[in-house]
Amino acid sequence: MSRPDVVVVGAGLAGLAAARDLEAGGATVTVLEARPRVGGRVEQVEIDDGRRVQLGGEVVGDAHTSYLGLVEELGLTLVPSYVAEPGEITRQVPGAVDVGDWPSWFTPADRASYDEVEAALGKVLASIDPADPWSSPDLEQLDRLSVGDWLREAGATPAVLRLKELAHLSLADGSIERTSLFAYARKIAAGGTTGSYDVARWENLRVAEGSATVALTVAAGLRDVRLSSPVRGVTVRRHGCVVTTHDGEEVRGGAVVLAVPAGPARDLEVDGVSDERLASLRRQRHAWAAKFVAAYDEPFWRARGQNGLSECEGVLGSTWPQQHGVLSALVPPERYAAFAATDPRTRTREALAQVAALYGPQGEAPLQTWTRLWGTDPWTQGYVTGWQPGDVVAVGPLHGTHEPPFYVCGSDQWVAGYMEGAVRTGRAAAAAALAHG
Ligand SMILES: Cc1cc2nc3c(=O)[nH]c(=O)nc-3n(C[C@H](O)[C@H](O)[C@H](O)COP(=O)(O)OP(=O)(O)OC[C@H]3O[C@@H](n4cnc5c(N)ncnc54)[C@H](O)[C@@H]3O)c2cc1C
Repeated sequence: MSRPDVVVVGAGLAGLAAARDLEAGGATVTVLEARPRVGGRVEQVEIDDGRRVQLGGEVVGDAHTSYLGLVEELGLTLVPSYVAEPGEITRQVPGAVDVGDWPSWFTPADRASYDEVEAALGKVLASIDPADPWSSPDLEQLDRLSVGDWLREAGATPAVLRLKELAHLSLADGSIERTSLFAYARKIAAGGTTGSYDVARWENLRVAEGSATVALTVAAGLRDVRLSSPVRGVTVRRHGCVVTTHDGEEVRGGAVVLAVPAGPARDLEVDGVSDERLASLRRQRHAWAAKFVAAYDEPFWRARGQNGLSECEGVLGSTWPQQHGVLSALVPPERYAAFAATDPRTRTREALAQVAALYGPQGEAPLQTWTRLWGTDPWTQGYVTGWQPGDVVAVGPLHGTHEPPFYVCGSDQWVAGYMEGAVRTGRAAAAAALAHG
């Protein structure tokens, strides 16, 4: 039996960032991780030519100040992401593949409707303080409304609705018909912009050494990270906590930092935490997504004037160039079942056929491909938090809060997810625990 000051459950970016700051603050920390590796939703593999391929979280943006700060502390390198790739975006719907800013099925009237909707969104954003969303006078009303219903109320044409749905599913966090308007607007407000999702604020950078290298570097500096140690239960008492692993080992500590995603958190037996706090934690849900990656010799899409970025109505919801010759793709929640229910060879063939439809026949001849079914991975059970209509109010103001000596962190505990959410809440949990002593 060991007796650290703090037991951190989960060695994703959040748990690792928390453990790093706790150790820097003088605490003795043990990190318990279910998988035989650290990083959680950031994971990389290296191919023979030395390229490190990201199978999970990948890009960050200027708005991600906590993550960027950590990267700087670790001495890693930030470089422009796919946002700097030359060429034009591609949109694919049944019967049409369009290259350029606007799809062929968009008329001048749709363009005008699009601009009107953007202006209307600016008004919604102005009513939300991302640092204190609970103060919003329209919280309940905006949370009840789906983005799709609000767009219809705002007079969006069917083509605008279709374009917005394409954009939402390309991010894989759920259909506009199943996304709370309040959650959507709160996320945009957190990025500090006034229009819809701005990739320059959210996705314009990546870590040259590989985004999973951030997690690996933090973990290498920690004293006690125990892999293959899934936690089953947590008992919280003011004068000492007990964390029990699946094989019955008990690790005692003065405090517990829970740094696991919403799904695995629901599976834990937690005792000694208020019913309200637990109900809020367990009410969160995830959007399920898969990531598909194909590595080629060269970025062949460039020769056709395309930038590798696409929004699609195939089984893939989007593609983008991860790095030289490597194409990433997301399978959105609405198409996850069709993808996961298909035998691996067939789904790879179908995904590559879609890449070929977008960028030409070379798409079907990659050097290597990878599929990662995050939605049904037992230690993730999802991808990012899904905020369906009513969810923000149902999770309530206890979202992301601590009940010392029980602390929570993780990207699900921030308003907008992302690696930023993991690092930001991990560091905040460590600061709160250190302040509490
Ligand atoms: C396919 C994909 C693409 C993404 N793309 C981006 C992107 O481009 N940019 C971006 O910013 N974000 C992206 N994200 C989101 C980002 O990767 C995550 O939000 C972030 O990494 C989550 O970190 P975390 O520490 O909160 O959770 P996780 O990384 O999920 O870490 C939680 C850890 O807890 C462990 N665990 C779970 N249950 C237990 C248990 N019972 N006992 C012990 N350990 C347990 C897990 O194994 C895991 O290691 C992406 C995510 C995915 C899946």
